[in-house]
Amino acid sequence: MSRFQSARNRMVEEQLIARGIRDERVLAAMRTIPRHLFVEEALQEQAYGDHALPIGERQTISQPFMAALMTEALHLSGHERVLEIGTGSGYQTTLLAALSAKVYSIERIEPFIEKVRSVLKHLGYFNVEIKAADGSIGWEEKAPFDAILVAAGAPEVPPPLVDQLAVGGRLLIPVGGRFSQVLKKIVKTGSGVTETALTNCAFVPLIGAVGWQHEETANGDNPV
Ligand code: SAM
Repeated sequence: MSRFQSARNRMVEEQLIARGIRDERVLAAMRTIPRHLFVEEALQEQAYGDHALPIGERQTISQPFMAALMTEALHLSGHERVLEIGTGSGYQTTLLAALSAKVYSIERIEPFIEKVRSVLKHLGYFNVEIKAADGSIGWEEKAPFDAILVAAGAPEVPPPLVDQLAVGGRLLIPVGGRFSQVLKKIVKTGSGVTETALTNCAFVPLIGAVGWQHEETANGDNPV
């Protein structure tokens, strides 16, 4: 067994199963997807550690547990159309691609996108469409979505994302301040939405029309 395969198995046992992740499809995908290919070569040995890692442009690949928790909460069975906001390294994108029918992913930093397309092709995932845009307004032409995962922290739940959910659809989004948020799960029902708080978290900011307007503000924690 390769050292990366051993590291993946250990990551799943010690970081995911030990903390309550139970969805066998999520666990199997995380045992399989080579997370080290989504970080630069100098960081590959750290790719299976219990933390986020830098991917350039002041952005991060999320902690494995957070990727697992969010994916499990979407309850994917394999037939879903999924929207992801914040492609980043493409690791979470690949996880979603392995567990659903079609993934639409939006990233505002263009140079990330070509890299992700090339890794997805290398790994044989062809059910992903990525575009460079502001994902805080969603992807209206492709709606409705059965699941939406936002991998950046928003000051509020963007109404366009709720509009673009199918009835029965699930939206996972960190909501709160610039530096710490609560991970919320919103489910669209026939008569409205239900909202549950899952855990505290600390994502990079969602920058956009229905997010934060700049990467940093002089006035600290206030959206501008
Ligand atoms: N899940 C990703 C991974 O595994 O690599 C990590 C995503 S990183 C924490 C958040 C990403 O959201 C960054 O790449 C950032 O550029 C992107 N982002 C922030 N605001 C955005 C927006 N309005 N639309 C699209 N992407 C956005």
